[in-house]
Amino acid sequence: MTIIDTRTPDPKRLISGATGDWEVIIGLEVHAQVSSHSKLFSGASTVFGSAPNDNVSLVDAAMPGMLPVINEECVKQAIRTGLGLKAQINLKSVFDRKNYFYPDLPQGYQISQFKQPIVGEGTVTVSVGPDRQGHFEDIEVGIERLHLEQDAGKSMHDQHPTMSYVDLNRSGVALMEIVSKPDIRSADEAKAYVTKLRTIMRYLGTCDGNMDEGSLRADVNVSVRKPGGEFGTRCEIKNVNSIRFIGQAIEAEAQRQIAILEDGGKIDQETRLFDPAKGETRSMRSKEEAHDYRYFPDPDLLPLEFDQAYVDALAAHLPELPDQKKERFVSAMGLSAYDASVLVAEKAVADFFEKVAEGRDGKMAANWVINDLLGALNKSGKTLEETPVSAAQLGAIIDLIKDGTISGKIAKDLFEIVWTEGGDPRDLVESRGLKQVTDTGAIEKAVDEVIAANPDKVEQARAKPTMAGWFVGQVMKATGGKANPQAVNDLVKAKLGIE
Ligand code: ADP
Ligand code: MG
Repeated sequence: MTIIDTRTPDPKRLISGATGDWEVIIGLEVHAQVSSHSKLFSGASTVFGSAPNDNVSLVDAAMPGMLPVINEECVKQAIRTGLGLKAQINLKSVFDRKNYFYPDLPQGYQISQFKQPIVGEGTVTVSVGPDRQGHFEDIEVGIERLHLEQDAGKSMHDQHPTMSYVDLNRSGVALMEIVSKPDIRSADEAKAYVTKLRTIMRYLGTCDGNMDEGSLRADVNVSVRKPGGEFGTRCEIKNVNSIRFIGQAIEAEAQRQIAILEDGGKIDQETRLFDPAKGETRSMRSKEEAHDYRYFPDPDLLPLEFDQAYVDALAAHLPELPDQKKERFVSAMGLSAYDASVLVAEKAVADFFEKVAEGRDGKMAANWVINDLLGALNKSGKTLEETPVSAAQLGAIIDLIKDGTISGKIAKDLFEIVWTEGGDPRDLVESRGLKQVTDTGAIEKAVDEVIAANPDKVEQARAKPTMAGWFVGQVMKATGGKANPQAVNDLVKAKLGIE
């Protein structure tokens, strides 16, 4: 494959070394477990957390005479993912055997796709940030391919003093390997890219993206070069299983390579492992080449073929994806790009927001969801599923502000009450006497009292009209925050005789 360099060096992504700046080049191979009830070529269950070897059919155990049968659901999921990555869907693809010693895959080869994958080139738009100024920058990361393959089982070396055990539950589970082009230029970009892939797949329902259950993991290819120069030799860091570790592995590996090159050494193409405890990568084996695997088409499986109508039918039923949702939040609901990005990052949050915003002011709903609800969830360590304030309750609080029943300030208190005690916001306003005072007589009395008590401030305010805000604050305080702020503002100005 000839690699095409699609990006010019970005000064803010460069790493400075003793001999000048270095540019980091990154390409990721992400392994995403397909959401399906059964495995890629057998009817065994894929459910997480079963007892060892509970989910193993005779096919997965590679008993003599067993034959693989393709699971159509996995094929559909791969096509749907390909569509979500705006990628070419190949109407004909081929399953190959990748031969290797796999201690936890009894077939002795992995069924994968090599020359003819089910999905070809695509692109993912990734928002990187926020930087110190709170800005996001969009980059495009090219997708090289997506292919279907089997996962392997798990060897367990810590169960018995002298023996190793094997758990084949994962053996044969369908994976999508999503290979990016080497378009990524920093640890932050790589983390944002994997996060975006996960978001897209969660929206599609094609991979649950649970990294702590192993549903998503990445092989991280890293090389360094002088900015804009020839691509350097890459090392591949295998099986990194958290987004944070992906970032740390890239930073450690880039530093290691820079140190070697600045010392006059050269990089050996290797497969490495990241050790999170030490924060460094270490050599695992020298890099194998594709021809070492003796790939050949699996004679037990026919080429995988479907027609364009099959793809079109799947395309017609795709859900709205995060980029489209963000676009709609901005154009139809008037949200800022920043707020829209925050809301679409997780589908559950976007759905919650839409419930709150339905029939209401979108910007106001966005503010309450992002600043108040997500803020409170974050502070209390709760997830959205555990929220004590439902979308209906938050919507009701917003309605109470909108119709003038409560002020924005009281609304914050009301939110606290609903958060800790629950209840219907409108009833709470009644029972706790939180209603906004719009009766001008009562407000006027409070304004008069504040003015009478502060003759010096009155003088100052006449000279400097912005001082009126101080009076408004005092009146709000005196009325327990329940006076209508607009009415207070108008009265204060009238009484002081300022514009
Ligand atoms: P393999 O299967 O041998 O690992 P692939 O052709 O599938 O090789 O590519 C693996 C990954 O390596 C791709 O994501 C690609 O973008 C990335 N890559 C290729 N060249 C470089 C490079 N010089 N530096 C960093 N990443 C690279
Ligand atoms: Mg690889």
